[in-house]
Amino acid sequence: MSYPASAAGSVFNNGHGSPQIAFTPGDATVSYNGTTYNLLQVHFHSPSEETIEGDAPALDAHFVHASDEGALLVIGVMYDPCEVTSVPLLTTALDNYEGFTSDAPQDVTVPDLSTVIPTDVEFYTFPGSLTTPPCTGGLQWFVASAPQCATEPQIAALKAVGAAAGLDPEIGNARRPTMPLNDRSLTLTKATRAAGDAEAPSTTGSSGIALGLTAIVAAGAAVLI
Ligand SMILES: [Zn+2]
Repeated sequence: MSYPASAAGSVFNNGHGSPQIAFTPGDATVSYNGTTYNLLQVHFHSPSEETIEGDAPALDAHFVHASDEGALLVIGVMYDPCEVTSVPLLTTALDNYEGFTSDAPQDVTVPDLSTVIPTDVEFYTFPGSLTTPPCTGGLQWFVASAPQCATEPQIAALKAVGAAAGLDPEIGNARRPTMPLNDRSLTLTKATRAAGDAEAPSTTGSSGIALGLTAIVAAGAAVLI
């Protein structure tokens, strides 16, 4: 994983109840199975679309990547309110967000980008699909197995964005219903910073993984791109 300390981006209304930050392809990349994926954008959902044993954390961020050949890779990071003074990524998105009355992107510099993907937790990885029609399959999901910390005001501000769009804050912004695991395999892996591929999966298949993973996979397929 090669995310720089900071990167230029632009914040805009993604039309799905979230500010979205677009990045210049190539500024931040992830390498997986020998393919390089460029970070295209990050957006948010509140509550999280991913769940852990049926519980949805307060917030999630989806980092959407694409290879030069068009293959997609999404990293999901969940957040709960806990002891942290701020999350710079959220601050950048919220402070520069023009709201639903303007479509004008705001140019920003995203700070602390190199630390937004946790490397001290495992990631569930599985094949998934887009959640907006045509719900195209064929993208690879990575979901951090443990929620990170965000502040109550930041979570409240994200919910307010959805509310301003006319969405029920208790339901959250547009979410597709969770999907069954079916026969999709699921693996655990860890992200590593700097150059190099993700480490080889440490576990393969759904049967050997504890409960809760089914819920995560189910929700993982439900993410709105
Ligand atoms: Zn999403």
